Amino acid sequence: MEKQSKSIGIKVKLPKKKCKDEVCPFHGSLKCRGKIFTGVVISTKMQKTITVEFERRYFLPKYERYEKRRTRIKAHNPDCVNAKDGDIVRISECRPLSKTKNFVVIENLGKAKGFEERREALEESKTRKESKEEINGIKDSKNPSGIKEEDASDKSESN
Ligand SMILES: [Zn+2]
Repeated sequence: MEKQSKSIGIKVKLPKKKCKDEVCPFHGSLKCRGKIFTGVVISTKMQKTITVEFERRYFLPKYERYEKRRTRIKAHNPDCVNAKDGDIVRISECRPLSKTKNFVVIENLGKAKGFEERREALEESKTRKESKEEINGIKDSKNPSGIKEEDASDKSESN
């Protein structure tokens, strides 16, 4: 009876897999309450923890317009949900699970469009910046200003 997926009080698809995670809203004793957000998974490097990012609109009174701001939230990733990089997930607030983690993934909504392309573009821009820095360093070492001063002194002697 304990292993069966139980309702968490939020209308979501119950995960097909089962898990033995104590900190799982479907199979453990974790309760969901508070805010619910939907975002894209941008990091799965931690154990059972993922980083979720989403955009929000921030109002600027001076210009009477909105700007885009990004929020990043760390969330617990139970084995039964098993969200991966680039997935759109729904996360729910829960009790604090660690210093920086008080959300849990409750639903996997599939792959985000164009996520891998965006990540590739980011990595390309990083490598370009590095190559630019190298070129600037070579120019500084030549020090062209010193040569000009010598030319000026030669002219004054001939006069
Ligand atoms: Zn579970």
